Amino acid sequence: MEPCACEEARQKCTNEYCVLAPYLPANNPEVYACLSQVFEISVVVKNLKDLEPSQRQKCVDSYYFEAKYRLLDPVLGYDGLVRHLQRQIEDLKLGLEMDKRGAQGFARGPLSQSYGTTTTPSTSD
Ligand SMILES: [Zn+2]
Repeated sequence: MEPCACEEARQKCTNEYCVLAPYLPANNPEVYACLSQVFEISVVVKNLKDLEPSQRQKCVDSYYFEAKYRLLDPVLGYDGLVRHLQRQIEDLKLGLEMDKRGAQGFARGPLSQSYGTTTTPSTSD
């Protein structure tokens, strides 16, 4: 069996039966380090044992995603990312709505003029 990241991190691990080994190999110790900073590894192991093997990699990836964002943003965790993406969606919806309205009143002129984004190219010779 492949060595697991638990042993790499010098944590107590009976490698022969390590449920983490296929999903947290020793050549990827940063994932283990990230997970162990945020979650009790024993809880991750218990959760993995309750899942079908085909679901375990997705579960480990999900734990890693959560842990990574929790370390980046201790207050909001991955919810900070979700909120950021929701704001982007709202901004894009607003932009789309403005484009639609601009297109409806296109007789007034091209959109670029209505947004005031046209700039005269500077000529420097
Ligand atoms: Zn292990």
